[in-house]
Amino acid sequence: MDILERFGNYVRFETTSDEDSTATPSTACQWELARFLEAELKRIGVPRVELDDYGIVYGWIPATAGKEQCRALGFIAHMDTSPAASGKDVKMQIIENYDGKDVRLAGGEVLSVRSFPHLKTLAGRTLVTTDGTTLLGADDKAGIAEIVTAIERILEENIPHGPLCIAFTPDEEVGRGADHFNVDKFGADFAYTVDGGPEYDLACETFNAASAKIKIHGVSVHPGDAKDIMINAGLVACELSAMLPPSETPRYTDGYEGFYHLDSISGDVSSAAMSYIIRDHSREKFEARKETMKNVVAKLNQKYGEGTVTLELCDSYYNMREIIEKHEHLMDNAKAVITELGLTPQVIPVRGGTDGSRLSYMGLPCPNLGTGGYAYHGPFEHITKEGMALACDVVVGLIRKYAAV
Ligand SMILES: [Zn+2]
Repeated sequence: MDILERFGNYVRFETTSDEDSTATPSTACQWELARFLEAELKRIGVPRVELDDYGIVYGWIPATAGKEQCRALGFIAHMDTSPAASGKDVKMQIIENYDGKDVRLAGGEVLSVRSFPHLKTLAGRTLVTTDGTTLLGADDKAGIAEIVTAIERILEENIPHGPLCIAFTPDEEVGRGADHFNVDKFGADFAYTVDGGPEYDLACETFNAASAKIKIHGVSVHPGDAKDIMINAGLVACELSAMLPPSETPRYTDGYEGFYHLDSISGDVSSAAMSYIIRDHSREKFEARKETMKNVVAKLNQKYGEGTVTLELCDSYYNMREIIEKHEHLMDNAKAVITELGLTPQVIPVRGGTDGSRLSYMGLPCPNLGTGGYAYHGPFEHITKEGMALACDVVVGLIRKYAAV
């Protein structure tokens, strides 16, 4: 099947995940795409397919004759789309032979070269956008389309391959994609998530991530009689925020620079609550940031009395580089395949996490490949048919490479 047609089939499904839901998957609508994919994998000839109770679709293709000793290779993509924008009634706009200039979306918004300078490099390709009212869902339905198309080609063309394992997960966008992933059942020695940016992108690094929940207990008395008695929790919250380095926030950082991000704050005189996320690629700096947070809280308690401020620090995920470094072939082979396709591999540190960062620590080393998409999580999301085809070629190339050893 044509890769764009396949992608179009997937974006028709609304699969927005929901952070506040306690269900698995977080939204029932994700089941529909899961069932569709289960049926499609069977239809293209994947011998063993399972949709489990958590909404994860697994597929296994045994090695071709003589390749049984090859290491088992996995490919993973996620079915849900970000709750940051609507994913309902997505209307794909297809522009053949795109001229590399501004695109007026049907809803009136302009996908502009000024905001997205890389658009110029996509001239001559078939550009796929939304109508400006929803996201597109290339993140990560393009990844699914690329994996399914690659597997279809492997099976149709009888390309020799080792054991292959594929999985499509729900709820990646709300950080739960790996929660119920069964690494043992999946059975791959290592895998790639296909969930990145341009088709030449490659990532083996994510943030180390922690959350910090802070509660401040104030002392509320009549402001007229408050001298040396009142502890204004709201003001203590402001003081705490001012004790953290002002330039180390998401607004002022990029590349390998970490940050403290005040995600939410609420309060009054008697109590206040703050919620931070702490991020850094370097484990050492990450630990130092958590120490800074503890010290700030300790200083405030020294000043206002023990128990005024409480801190709950919780690690969310770690930089997968520590794990992937031990399996150099994962990055080396991906770079080689991307280069063989005439592209220049671009290794970028992910300023976030991927399912792969959790999976790597669960025993499945898992770098991330590009899908060919851009401007995720909003109405300007776009991708090209050629980018998808190349990302699919990367998957096929890796399957060939791991069958050759
Ligand atoms: Zn994604």
